[in-house]
Amino acid sequence: MRKNIVAGNWKMNTTVPEGVALAKEVSEALKATKANCDVVICVPFTHLVPVAGAIDAAVLGLGAENCADHKSGAYTGEVSAPMVASTGAKYVILGHSERRQYYGETSETLREKVALALENGLTPIFCIGEVLEERENGTFNEVVAKQVEEGLFNLSAEDFGKIVLAYEPVWAIGTGKTATAEQAQDMHAHIRAVIAGKYGQEVANNTSILYGGSCKASNAPELFAKPDVDGGLIGGASLKCADFMGIVNAF
Ligand code: PEP
Repeated sequence: MRKNIVAGNWKMNTTVPEGVALAKEVSEALKATKANCDVVICVPFTHLVPVAGAIDAAVLGLGAENCADHKSGAYTGEVSAPMVASTGAKYVILGHSERRQYYGETSETLREKVALALENGLTPIFCIGEVLEERENGTFNEVVAKQVEEGLFNLSAEDFGKIVLAYEPVWAIGTGKTATAEQAQDMHAHIRAVIAGKYGQEVANNTSILYGGSCKASNAPELFAKPDVDGGLIGGASLKCADFMGIVNAF
C-alpha cells in the first residue's frame, strides 16, 4: 500500500550552517517522537553533503530540489542526478511550478530528469498543479492530467511505481491560500483515476499523492484525513522545526 509522506521544500533559503542546524533539529525531534509517516527534507544542492552528515537517515530522508536533464558534461552550473545520489540523497523534487514558471521547464525536459533520477536510484517527487486562471476557468482537471501524462506516461508501470506525486495548485503556493480539503481530495481522486486509466487500479492505489500549497499545522489534519491525500509537500512551514513537526504530527 502507498506511503504517507511529509516532505519539506526549503527552496532557496538558509545558509549552510543554518540549514545544518535546522536539519539536526528536525532529525532530533523525529528521534524523540515516532512519526506515523515518512519524513523527508529537500534542501539546496550546497546543503546536501553537510545535511546528510548531520541527520539520522533512519528517521529523516534527504532530497534535492532539482537535478539536471543531462548525466554529465559541459553544462556549467548544473548538478546531475548521479551527483545528487552520490551525496546520500534519496529524493529529488522535479517539475516544481517555480521551475516550470521561472526556468522554463517543459514536460520534455522533465521526462529526461525523471529518467536520470530513476537511473540513479532517486525517488522523484513530481509536482503538478494548475494556475489561478485555470482553476477559475474550470480547465484544472485537464491541465493537471496533461502534466501527469506528458511528464510521466512514457514510464513502464514498474518505473511509474517509483514516483511520488505532489499536487500543488500554483495559486496556493506561498500565498497563504490553501485549497480546501474537498478541492484537494477531488483533484487527488482525479489524478488517481488518470493513473488507473493508464497503469491499472493497483498501481494507482499504490501511488503516494501529496498536497502542497500553504499547508501548515492548522490545516494539515483536515487535508491528511482525506482518503486520497497521502501527505504534504511543505514550503514555508518546513523552515521552522516546530511548524514542520506540527504537520508531521498531523498523521
Ligand atoms: C512548495 O513550494 O512546494 C510549497 C508547497 O510552498 P508553501 O508551503 O510555502 O506554499
